[in-house]
Amino acid sequence: MSTQQGLDPRQPAPGAQGGPIIQVAGVNKWYGTFQVLTGIDLEVSAGERIVVCGPSGSGKSTMIRCLNGLEKVQQGRIVVDGIDLTANAHNVEAVRQEVGMVFQQFNLFPHMTVLQNCMLAPMRSRGVTRQQAQDTAMKYLERVRIVDQAAKYPSQLSGGQQQRVAIARALCMTPKIMLFDEPTSALDPEMVKEVLDTMIGLAEDGMTMLCVTHEMGFARSVADRVIFMADGRIIEQAPPSEFFSNPQHEKTRNFLGQIL
Ligand code: ADP
Ligand code: MG
Repeated sequence: MSTQQGLDPRQPAPGAQGGPIIQVAGVNKWYGTFQVLTGIDLEVSAGERIVVCGPSGSGKSTMIRCLNGLEKVQQGRIVVDGIDLTANAHNVEAVRQEVGMVFQQFNLFPHMTVLQNCMLAPMRSRGVTRQQAQDTAMKYLERVRIVDQAAKYPSQLSGGQQQRVAIARALCMTPKIMLFDEPTSALDPEMVKEVLDTMIGLAEDGMTMLCVTHEMGFARSVADRVIFMADGRIIEQAPPSEFFSNPQHEKTRNFLGQIL
């Protein structure tokens, strides 16, 4: 097939191949009178793996929650896969179909089995049949290597197993983007690796990922870019090799000095 570069007048849709799948421009957000995010600009390409780090209270959770409409912003623009979250309240539902999220506390439904947890959202909001939902759930439970626990309730699983179920549950919605907010922070140390390994597998499969984490080994080996936040701003961002060896900002150096 021949290509004629420069002759096609159509603009590629935002989020189309080549363009950023996430565009954040000039975002300011307040909780009451407290400004939690200031001047956030961020573009993420499809398939990019981003680690977000920074001191507690710097706005990391708030920023990534804005990307699937869990938080509203007062100023600026957020476009996810071509859908403008800031234009129309109805767009939030459309974006949530494409963005999976995994939290520090696994947030599984305690009264449902692992399998039921994974089937619920696709049946409710994707309109798939019970059988399709079950097939998809089993596929992703297999992928996070926990399919043998499908009939159990969350309380019967370890923290690491619950978090892997939470990842499988998010994947059952076949998201284009996965957001992780400190997914290993609530885990006992011996369970951190199994969750990070699951995330590494997703990264290797080309998932677009934003991960708030202080697991700097994960950042070094998986991230394309590390973003450092402080006081509600993106202070610095760089590929991990540069970020760790040559941090530019004093706040970054202080932070790395504390956690490494
Ligand atoms: P991080 O994830 O980096 O620790 P957060 O985004 O959770 O930071 O919080 C950033 C700041 O916003 C903190 O000072 C926090 O106390 C404040 N904050 C977070 N959520 C709320 C809220 N719902 N109402 C008021 N203040 C909040
Ligand atoms: Mg947080």
